Amino acid sequence: MTVIQTLQQGGRHPFLDGKPKRMLIGGKWLEAASGKTFETINPATGEVLAQVAEGDKEDIDRAVAAARAAFTGPWSRATPYERQALLLKLAELVERDFEELTALDTLDMGAPLSRTRNNRARALGMLRYYAGQATSIHGETIPNSLPGEHVSFTLKEPVGVVGAIIPWNGPLTATIWKIGPALATGCTVVLKPAEEAPLTPLRIAELCMEAGVPAGVVNVVPGYGETAGAALAAHPDVDKVAFTGSCGTGQAIVRASAGNLKRVSLELGGKSPDIVFADAHLESAVPGAAMAVFANSGQICSAGTRLFVEKRVYDEFVGRVAEFGKALKVGDGLRDETQVGPLVSAQQLDRVTGYLAIGRQEGARPLSGGERLTGEGLDKGYFVPPTVFADVNDSMRIAQEEIFGPVISAIPFTDIEEVIARSNATTFGLGSGVWTRDVSKAHKLARAIRAGSVWVNCYQAMDPAVPFGGYKMSGYGRESGMQHVEEYLNVKAVWIRTG
Ligand code: ADP
Repeated sequence: MTVIQTLQQGGRHPFLDGKPKRMLIGGKWLEAASGKTFETINPATGEVLAQVAEGDKEDIDRAVAAARAAFTGPWSRATPYERQALLLKLAELVERDFEELTALDTLDMGAPLSRTRNNRARALGMLRYYAGQATSIHGETIPNSLPGEHVSFTLKEPVGVVGAIIPWNGPLTATIWKIGPALATGCTVVLKPAEEAPLTPLRIAELCMEAGVPAGVVNVVPGYGETAGAALAAHPDVDKVAFTGSCGTGQAIVRASAGNLKRVSLELGGKSPDIVFADAHLESAVPGAAMAVFANSGQICSAGTRLFVEKRVYDEFVGRVAEFGKALKVGDGLRDETQVGPLVSAQQLDRVTGYLAIGRQEGARPLSGGERLTGEGLDKGYFVPPTVFADVNDSMRIAQEEIFGPVISAIPFTDIEEVIARSNATTFGLGSGVWTRDVSKAHKLARAIRAGSVWVNCYQAMDPAVPFGGYKMSGYGRESGMQHVEEYLNVKAVWIRTG
């Protein structure tokens, strides 16, 4: 029987053996210095999945010391081919255990199997892409105009110890997105998983050890944001923080980084516009616009939550998106048929249902969803159905603020210049969508929208080779692509006088 079949029949996941999960520091599995643990729960059922070591400042100090020792030790002499081989080995192990990892993501943060299974190509692709990059990192020989004879060239060197702080909305891919470039470049990492979903990162840490990643190169310290996360962000011996999460936490991390002026890259929130013109191929735009928000229950930073629809098709289109949402199966992510799982936590449920109430108070009209889902075995989980609010205007809070739930705010528009201005009238700039059959409009919008990604006649397309990141308050730095690898490198100029 497969791991998933076992779970579907009420059995347990092999990683969940009833023992508290420890943290990985310097190649050893340790309890927290305080001895404390915290619970991680299944958001579909409210059941406790495991006790997890609760890291705090002392543990972060130990992990950073281990990462520093590894960085200056034999790891600094690992050749590009050796680092490549490690990444390829890790990819092989992730592939071997993919179903187990998929199930762990589903258990810990709720995303349906239909989604976590689909991450296969992306997760493996990322590891193999970074493996390729490991042998492609190089400096340049640059001609100079100094009198006398000088040769000048650059070296690309790993930035050092990286503090990686990740969110809970895609634990498997988020972990790989941070560890991959670190191993490719020769950095070392202290990774702090989100307290809501620490299990997959810990399992990947085990796979790193199995792959032969040297002790101290990858360390994983679970714990809370305000304690372990804050200690990592402020640590004087951390050279860079790679953070994915909310805007407010991103700002706290930038402030904390000032102590040693560590490098920071930030992938933060969004309130992304998704623009549907009347000339779009509506058959594909309806599911496209719906899943741009309902996928992962809306818990995706680049979700296309401000749905701008050209006035003459507004009623028809928005109605169809609502019908599409109503037909999606909401439930425990472990069921094969589930398309929309629970929200990650009780706190997130409160936040999203709070916005549903705000939307109604502001005068928006729910065409679908709009209330927490209970009954039929859903009472103990945190379920909110796909919700479409019509009659939304730009000044409403549901059109301005990130909800991080399956909630579409549908807004009518009349012309292209107007929709460009309104799309850009936000502090965020992460994703954006455009649905049209007019190639001129597509090109115009692709340039005019101030966001890190513009998806035309698709949404959320991602590839390890294509950079992803934000404009404005959605953050800075890029993940995926060569730009991502550069974020983990320093450039050193070397001058040699030969005359
Ligand atoms: P969300 O609201 O989506 O949970 P957060 O930004 O709070 O997003 O969390 C993302 C990650 O940041 C988590 O790993 C969390 O523990 C961590 N975190 C939260 N607060 C801080 C902080 N003050 N300093 C560093 N990390 C933090």
